[in-house]
Amino acid sequence: MKHNFGAGPCILPSSVMQQAADAVLNWNDSGLSILEVSHRSPEFEEVVLKTQLLVRELLNVPKNYSVLCLQGGASTQFSMIPMNFLQGKTIASYLDTGYFAQKAIKEARLFGDVEIVGSSRDKDYAYIPDHYHVQHASAYLHVTSNNTIEGTEIFDFHDTGVPLICDMSSDIFSRKINVRDFDLIYAGAQKNMGPAGMTLVIVKNDLLDSVKHQVPSMSDYRIYRDNQSMFNTPPVFAIYVSMLNLLWLKNEGGVEGIEIQNKKKAQMLYAEIDRNSLFVGNANLAHRSRMNVTFRMRNPEIESDFLAFASERGMVGIKGYRTVGGFRASLYNALPLHSVKALVKVMQEFEALQTQ
Ligand SMILES: *Cc1c(COP(=O)(O)O)cnc(C)c1O
Repeated sequence: MKHNFGAGPCILPSSVMQQAADAVLNWNDSGLSILEVSHRSPEFEEVVLKTQLLVRELLNVPKNYSVLCLQGGASTQFSMIPMNFLQGKTIASYLDTGYFAQKAIKEARLFGDVEIVGSSRDKDYAYIPDHYHVQHASAYLHVTSNNTIEGTEIFDFHDTGVPLICDMSSDIFSRKINVRDFDLIYAGAQKNMGPAGMTLVIVKNDLLDSVKHQVPSMSDYRIYRDNQSMFNTPPVFAIYVSMLNLLWLKNEGGVEGIEIQNKKKAQMLYAEIDRNSLFVGNANLAHRSRMNVTFRMRNPEIESDFLAFASERGMVGIKGYRTVGGFRASLYNALPLHSVKALVKVMQEFEALQTQ
């Protein structure tokens, strides 16, 4: 039995996997595979529509926002955002909370001036900077709601008076959010929404309508909006499996229901990290991510022993990111509580061996 704590692509529910497998062989008794159907067929147009509707329903997306299914991963958004919203303006603001925020900043600098309104680099990104000020002339503020590599999460989003753009790749659909707090939300699907290959964008129409310059078609949000995300061939299979996964989420009680389970899972693992004499958590208590739990050993020399011990007992994907070290257990929506229990048990067994 494997327990998949991988940071992405993420674990998906086995029922979703089964339905996806069935659709590869014979989609809805059509005698065709989902891999070979036309993206212009009414049946597939229905899938895109249903996916967008599920996003709207699960996140309570207001009518004046568009839901877009794109490609290129969250990384493409790093340049697409400034290409659309920074060009022609004076400056854009970024909150520097880690590895992915840094990547977003690097791309934005190709299109204009960037001000870093706050950074937690001084403490290896173990916290979320608070009390930052954004200048009025800024085109937008970009934040990363969950820092997948460092294991921190933003729980308060301030209104700074400029449009708020958020990279929610690794915590979207994990907890309730108020979409109205944001002007644009984006997420690579493969962290908590579906398989790799599709990127979700939720954007306020006002923001799109404010763009007056020309943008290359494949990078122009307006083109995707005006073509129902079908300007070119969309990632058919990735959208289909995301739809299945969102249906699963709806049946689990939606975002409200899964948030309760996610809190439980995170509390259980952090409680063990804090109790266990061998381990220590990386993130500040107030900013601990519920999706990516990062921790290390007080004695780094036995980290590889623990890793081997844990992997012999079915734990997959708990090695920390190469720049951070230690461990990272990702607790995405589909990871069951019993997997967290199994990891806690392994940590306790290892402690017992060490302290014999
Ligand atoms: C994984 C991740 C990305 C990069 O996503 P890709 O889809 O691989 O481009 C960006 N931001 C965050 C927060 C992530 O977790």
